[in-house]
Amino acid sequence: MIDYQLRQREYLLEISRAMTSRLDLPSVLRLILENAVEMLQGQAGLIALRQENGSLRVQASYGLPRGLLHLFAPLLTDIPAHAEREDLIRWTIPNLQMKLSLVVSAIGLGPSTGPWSFGTVPYGPVRCPGTKGSGHRLRQVVALPLIMEGILIGVIYIFRSRGGTFSANDRQVLASFADQAAIAVHNARLYQQLAHEKRRLDAIIENSADGVMILDPQRRIRIFNRALEEMTGWSTEEALRQPCSRVLALRDRQGKDICEAMCPLSQPKPEEHLYVEGDIKRPDDSIVTVGITYSPLYDREGHFVSVIANVRDITRFREAEEMKSTFVSVISHELKSPVSIIKGYADTLRREDAQWDADTLRQGLAVIAEESDRLNRLIDNLLDASRLQASAFKLELSYLQVDKLAEKVMEEFRTQSNEHMFTLDFPPDFPAVRGDIERSRQVLTNLLSNAIKYSPRGGLIRTGGWADDDWVYVYVADEGIGIPKSEQERIFERFYRAESPLSRRTEGAGLGLYLCKEVIEVHGGKIWVESAPGRGAKFIFKLPRG
Ligand code: ADP
Repeated sequence: MIDYQLRQREYLLEISRAMTSRLDLPSVLRLILENAVEMLQGQAGLIALRQENGSLRVQASYGLPRGLLHLFAPLLTDIPAHAEREDLIRWTIPNLQMKLSLVVSAIGLGPSTGPWSFGTVPYGPVRCPGTKGSGHRLRQVVALPLIMEGILIGVIYIFRSRGGTFSANDRQVLASFADQAAIAVHNARLYQQLAHEKRRLDAIIENSADGVMILDPQRRIRIFNRALEEMTGWSTEEALRQPCSRVLALRDRQGKDICEAMCPLSQPKPEEHLYVEGDIKRPDDSIVTVGITYSPLYDREGHFVSVIANVRDITRFREAEEMKSTFVSVISHELKSPVSIIKGYADTLRREDAQWDADTLRQGLAVIAEESDRLNRLIDNLLDASRLQASAFKLELSYLQVDKLAEKVMEEFRTQSNEHMFTLDFPPDFPAVRGDIERSRQVLTNLLSNAIKYSPRGGLIRTGGWADDDWVYVYVADEGIGIPKSEQERIFERFYRAESPLSRRTEGAGLGLYLCKEVIEVHGGKIWVESAPGRGAKFIFKLPRG
């Protein structure tokens, strides 16, 4: 008896170990069956679990060929729905013994298997301890419910092909195996639920439009989602396990690493949430402005477990804000200076106590006219820039002879500057295109006025063009300060002014080239510059011929 109890204890221990070391439910259930069959000196066993619709389905078997399991279906019916742990021993399935006889004779009548019995079936795991020889039909069955939290979740069946009926003690022993099976099923279901929730959460994090990053207490990256990959230029693979300050090197106003600030070692109880904004440098050296909310997570005992960082790309808001403030300062400066010159000259010229000779008068009025033109151009550019932003930029297409137009615009400038020489070089058969005359005038005006502005020492300003089968090309070239390669793309951006002492001294809103580019591009053309510092600049645009 002691030996028997010892064996039972060993079996149960083995099952517990299996349950904690692996979560693969079918193999744990099979182990339980195998041990229960041995303890009860049976030859076969089944565990059936309750499905969502309430019916039972075989989930594990021992000592029975798989191909015949469906024939055991009658044993899985009429299961009492309620079962108390206390009266497990008395729990029965009505007519179970009779159903077994039916199943056995059904198997016996099966055409291909012949009279079914242990040892004669050529397939299935027929490993029956204590069953030597063959020809033993299943004769006895005992069934006990698997109960978890008062609910029947399945049934365990043990079969004997010889020996007497199952005793009350057998049922008692089987009850502990049934308990183990119930726990295994429960654990597996909890695990499945957990895995499902985790997958759901992973999918939410992965597909979130905001960047999400989870850090461990050592501030190493544990989770890094797709939006962050795009924002930072780091792939998840590269970013995982990296210290967060390497991937998102953000500092607060005092220059302290933000990730450090969230570290529990330096600060036992960091602020609940921390929002910071700053620039991060991507591996390709481009800059992204981000706003990050850091939220520390604690477990129930108050230990710091991780930090969740929510990262939002605010580059566009930043740019829009910067643009607004640039706009205000540029406008106030650029509008004010011609107005104060005009006012100064007008006040001087109309002084009653002074007598101005005709020459001084003409010079003064010329300055007023020039500054008014400048003001006009600036206002036009501003209006167009705001129209462009509102997408209300419409072209009025007509027959356009760019060479003739360039000549006119150039003549206007020729009268304004004594320090510069102007030349025109178009072939006589320069083709006309369809284009907006006023807009094109604006392009040429901006290019020529820049050529003058950025050639403070005077020089030659050449305007000309050529054509091929598809395009007409027009250029405006000067001998001025030139533009470094690194700035040649950016000068076409709104409000962008290249960094140079001259640019700083020269009036301008950084809108001229932006408008040129927009106008040329709505025509289906392209504009670019060829230049080097100190070697002048040649702006070229092309318009489609067809
Ligand atoms: P603005 O002249 O009002 O500053 P633009 O958009 O016309 O604005 O030009 C942008 C910048 O490009 C200028 O500030 C200047 O630095 C540079 N730039 C434009 N044209 C020339 C040129 N012909 N030579 C040298 N630099 C130029």
